Amino acid sequence: MSPHDDRSEKEDDVISAPASSGDQPISSLLIIIAMQTEALPLVTKFQLVEDESSVFPKGVPWVRYHGKYKDMDISLVWPGKDLTLGVDSVGTISAAIVTYASIQALHPDLIINAGTAGGFKAKGASISDVFIASEVAFHDRRIPIPVFDLYGVGLRQAFHTPNLVNELSFKVGKLSTGDSLDMSQQDESAIIANDATVKDMEGAAVAYVAEMLKVPSIYIKAVTDIVDGDKPTAEEFLQNLMAVTAALDLAVTQAVDFINGKSLSEL
Ligand code: SAH
Repeated sequence: MSPHDDRSEKEDDVISAPASSGDQPISSLLIIIAMQTEALPLVTKFQLVEDESSVFPKGVPWVRYHGKYKDMDISLVWPGKDLTLGVDSVGTISAAIVTYASIQALHPDLIINAGTAGGFKAKGASISDVFIASEVAFHDRRIPIPVFDLYGVGLRQAFHTPNLVNELSFKVGKLSTGDSLDMSQQDESAIIANDATVKDMEGAAVAYVAEMLKVPSIYIKAVTDIVDGDKPTAEEFLQNLMAVTAALDLAVTQAVDFINGKSLSEL
């Protein structure tokens, strides 16, 4: 282990527990976002500031912005830029470890994983649509041995938010996660088997950790590209990223405003 950072071992051992129970108003919200372009408008919107002394180990690229917004403490965590290559640390590994570290450090009542996603027009998705995921699963963890196959798929329920969905008229769909932006034929079959409408690179990884540490989690995904359309995904993604990020940020702001003052059971 590297020399100790400023936290004591004792603090590291603290078992994560949400700050408030299901009937209390949500007081601590953790927003996890993979890309800087998606994160920064929300940092501005909620008037968050970057931590001066990080709650994370020294040397990691993970960035936490925090502040008080209405009645809640909001932390927005972005896994930062890859230390070697300088691009956003997208994908499941970064998503899982920042989720773990953030829950341990911050004990949030609720997690929102927000980001862009590919959408399937055959399942009713269009560019700029905002989806709340009803459930999340992986599509690139093929282990064709009984029970390991289910472990690979890693199906998990998102926290159920019927009032939020009705009030804000978000679309609802299943989210499928894998570590590639493109889609192989095998991925496609698995996504169809997952009955997914949207496809990202982080959701199911966040869900794995959130469930393990018993923190409710919701997934807000805005469609940057149509996966079953005729445009190349990477091109379409980059073309739409700025405009769709605006739709995503509006949706996350509406969701946070809705959540403010409510308990988990009121969502
Ligand atoms: N070239 C991009 C790479 C981003 S990777 C860049 O500008 O850095 C794509 C990110 O958007 C991931 O965080 C992923 O969750 C999401 N995403 C958008 N469309 C996707 C798709 N069709 N499939 C998988 N992930 C997608």
